[in-house]
Amino acid sequence: MTMPLYLDYGATTPLDPAVADAMIPWGVDGFGNPHSAHLWGYKAKATVELAREAIARLVNAPPESIAFTSGATESNNWAIKGLLTAPGQTRRRIVTLATEHSSVLETAQYLASIGALLTIVPVRETGLVDLGDLERALGEDVALVSVMAVNNEIGVMQDLAAIGRLAHGVGAVFHVDAAQGFGKVPIDVEAMAIDLMSITAHKIHGPKGVGALYRRPFTVITPLLHGGGQEDGRSGTLPTALIAGLGEAAHIAGTRMAADHAHALMLRNRLLARLAVPVQVNGALDRRWPGNLNLSFPGVAVPLLKQLPGLAISSGSACAALTGRASHVLTALGLPEATAKASLRLGFGRFTTADEIDAAADQINAAVQRHLAERA
Ligand SMILES: *Cc1c(COP(=O)(O)O)cnc(C)c1O
Repeated sequence: MTMPLYLDYGATTPLDPAVADAMIPWGVDGFGNPHSAHLWGYKAKATVELAREAIARLVNAPPESIAFTSGATESNNWAIKGLLTAPGQTRRRIVTLATEHSSVLETAQYLASIGALLTIVPVRETGLVDLGDLERALGEDVALVSVMAVNNEIGVMQDLAAIGRLAHGVGAVFHVDAAQGFGKVPIDVEAMAIDLMSITAHKIHGPKGVGALYRRPFTVITPLLHGGGQEDGRSGTLPTALIAGLGEAAHIAGTRMAADHAHALMLRNRLLARLAVPVQVNGALDRRWPGNLNLSFPGVAVPLLKQLPGLAISSGSACAALTGRASHVLTALGLPEATAKASLRLGFGRFTTADEIDAAADQINAAVQRHLAERA
């Protein structure tokens, strides 16, 4: 069976062959424990430290502020639970947006169920938060403001620098879920006043199961995983091969950021130009990672996905695909549930070709035209 065309970069991205090459030695012969005090350990440890430096450099952070984790889900959990339960923490409120990833929203809701206070700020039709709305939600009881860098469903980018200033203005800690932004758009933890930031490898052509948490020096958070204390508050033997992959993916992302962005923008404009049916783009087009298009088709209120077997794409997030519920992000933009369920999320980038984009547009045109003709 031929595989459907992969245009689901928002769910995960293809492994870059150069990343695979960087991982193999550490998954086979270089099996030493990076925490061991002998040459097998020292060599693995040196690779881990090179990866830490590559990540830190990309976001203007000191290497020692980067701790490795199993991915952005763990980093989000650690940042939010760790800060709210930190020794001496006197503030109880979390402020976040309605369009955040479930690993942020559900962590915050869990904490609210055991005594924290939670404010979920709505977004406008564009997917962007009104900074006045956000400011009104802030006060001296706010421990944490959590806002993502690039939305995983609609690609929109909030104004992180402005939000960081607002958070610091009330003495709150600013956390950014940068799973979809790290390595794809410029992020500077100093210029954006970011105190905690979640990173993952598999959205930037790295392996699944590895990520990191940036912690501004002197930001105290309790561990999620207690034990041997390997990563200064995150216990567990570090997976050298996965970390080598994350480091290489970050290094490549740094050198290719402008080229990858231009390529994604070219593909997006090509796809939009080739669509020959009435279409609505969900979320602002101008403040957006160009490798995301989230589309609705006026007059189409049935799950269109089922009629596109040749495309590996999604409706909403990969997580929503499991539950069958309408996307909380699209409903937060004001879309009716049926329209949200009929939407398509396309994700593309470094390894996507213009021919693939043309083929996708043709298949979408045919499916929408067929549906509209049946209705008429
Ligand atoms: C993918 C993603 C996550 C989860 O990352 P994992 O490394 O798969 O745990 C969290 N937040 C956003 C915005 C994502 O896109």
